[in-house]
Amino acid sequence: MRLFTSAPLITSSFVLALGLAACSADTTKPSETTEVQAPVVKIVKDDKFTYANYDKVRMTHLSLNLDVNFDEKILDGTATIDFKTIDPSAHTLKLDTKDLTIRSVQGLASSDGSAGKWVAMDYTLSDKDEVLGTMLSIPFSKGMNKVRIDYRTSPTAEGLQWLSPEQTAGKKKPYLFSQAQALNARTMTPVQDTPAVRITYDATLRVPDGLLPLMSAEQGGKDADGEYHFKMPQPIPSYLIAIAVGDIKFKAINDHIGVYAEQYILDASAEEFAETPLMEASNAKLYGPYRWGRYDLIVLPPSFPFGGMENPRLSFMTPTLIAGDKSLTNVVAHELAHSWSGNLVTNSSWRDAWLNEGFTSYVENRVMEDLYGEERALMEQYLSLEDLKRDIAGAARPELTHLKLPADLAHPDDAFTQVAYVKGQFFLMFLEERFGRTEFDAFLKGYFDHFAFQSITTEDFIKYLHDELHVKNPDALTSDELKAWVYGPGIPATAKNPQSDAFTNVDAARTAWIDGGVVGDTSAWSTHEWLHFLNNFSETLSKEQLEKLDADFNFNGHQNAEIAFAWYMQAIKGNYSKVDKELENFLMSVGRGKFIYRLYGALAGLNEDARTWATDVYAKARPGYHPIAQRRIDLVFLIADAKAKAKAEAKGEVEVEVEK
Ligand SMILES: [Zn+2]
Repeated sequence: MRLFTSAPLITSSFVLALGLAACSADTTKPSETTEVQAPVVKIVKDDKFTYANYDKVRMTHLSLNLDVNFDEKILDGTATIDFKTIDPSAHTLKLDTKDLTIRSVQGLASSDGSAGKWVAMDYTLSDKDEVLGTMLSIPFSKGMNKVRIDYRTSPTAEGLQWLSPEQTAGKKKPYLFSQAQALNARTMTPVQDTPAVRITYDATLRVPDGLLPLMSAEQGGKDADGEYHFKMPQPIPSYLIAIAVGDIKFKAINDHIGVYAEQYILDASAEEFAETPLMEASNAKLYGPYRWGRYDLIVLPPSFPFGGMENPRLSFMTPTLIAGDKSLTNVVAHELAHSWSGNLVTNSSWRDAWLNEGFTSYVENRVMEDLYGEERALMEQYLSLEDLKRDIAGAARPELTHLKLPADLAHPDDAFTQVAYVKGQFFLMFLEERFGRTEFDAFLKGYFDHFAFQSITTEDFIKYLHDELHVKNPDALTSDELKAWVYGPGIPATAKNPQSDAFTNVDAARTAWIDGGVVGDTSAWSTHEWLHFLNNFSETLSKEQLEKLDADFNFNGHQNAEIAFAWYMQAIKGNYSKVDKELENFLMSVGRGKFIYRLYGALAGLNEDARTWATDVYAKARPGYHPIAQRRIDLVFLIADAKAKAKAEAKGEVEVEVEK
């Protein structure tokens, strides 16, 4: 089979104006099977967050055989890696690891007459880099295409959170869940940990009695020996490898969609997510069939630091979505949409994260519009745009507000701002407006098909846009407009300004409340309207106003986490300490970064009393947070303390220590 074809030299001024090199592209479209596709995009090594030499030697399959050891908080066993040599002169397989203990490496040649005998291999480990971890280099001889690594993880692996029974709702059994994106797969297994490399995987897991293990794969169930088996036949990037183990139950929603959760929240979760089949149908209608077999959701313990994580076949979800009224299910639409954008067509480096998140936010919003009408889609656009404006205002430098992120990006986590999500979404909304919805829908459907199971760059997308859409509609947009979106800062002038009638009414109600303390009938307000109401007081509210607001609407301790969060942010701003008890409960029981990073940030930045109070709460809450959240919040306090110190020094209140 021919893997790559060279594209003819592109001479269009549109593409040249963007300074793009011609990339290689195959004109034949892949079929809709889920078999491994021949790449239509040539893999160029452009991911600096990996040690892997994937342009020379590339892994193709990972086979895990692991004990899940809750006593020691480790995964312990072997990783067997199939690889192929791209560059015949290369004789070393380079893998990413972080905090792994490597006990031995063996190799297997398929075609040198050794008849499948494993042989001990030499290997070297580099010094540890704080971000990248440790490179595992394995020199191999000609014909060798498999290595088996005997290893175990560290109890403090950044990608794994081990919960004690007390940290679960059931309180009786421990729980483990993983979060591999962006650089944490390497804390779980040796791997070429870059989204540019796609692998299939299988796994055999042994877990303590009474616990159910799940992976982002076909759940193969338990065999006679008590081992659980998993298989992911579609090639995925390593950041989508995922594992959860706990006292987990299952409830079906239909014949291929269901929910896993701890018993206490199982029925509520199935009810909250009951419309997932409608979302799948809507997605498939717009962008082609779902290609991954089953689609299940797992509702994790509250310390899960994200809204959701799009692990294939098994989205990981926060319990803060269980609001009781299906008002926060756009996150389900988001994770499901990743089955097309991100999981099927993947950014080949984190500098292109908008290809995952911007496309997904766009698809999510289209599905919400399709199912719940234009008004809900508009409200969600409006709320997202406000988040984007806040992130852009707070960006450390303008390059971090480009869709194509700069080459000197310090850490992939910095790629996951609202720029990737919302600016990316609004860019696609802009393209939709210029080319027309019908044309653009057909284009996107073709895009997902053309690049299915491939990892691509921003430039691959732009070339495809040019070839498939722009040449047929040359007047739809200029290269300057395109450049402003992709390679320029902030929000371009051509961005849509979403107008919601519902929000206009909320604005009037807010003004009426401020003026006379009355808002009229709010009984039919959606979560979105309440968020808009709370987020847009132009002045800091006085303690009297906050007291009346809470008395009127009972925001304190609200069961809807989004509304509770918006309320606490107002209360903190107004230094309203009557929320302390409920706010402490919230911080102790919710680990979702979206909420807690900003709450701690607001408290730490308010004044010394609030910072001290927040420091005390954090000290109690920290052990229950995910390692990812711990790192982020440690930083929040470090920055706030430094700022406070600098401010005090400027006022002359603190003597500046002089180095001797
Ligand atoms: Zn996403």
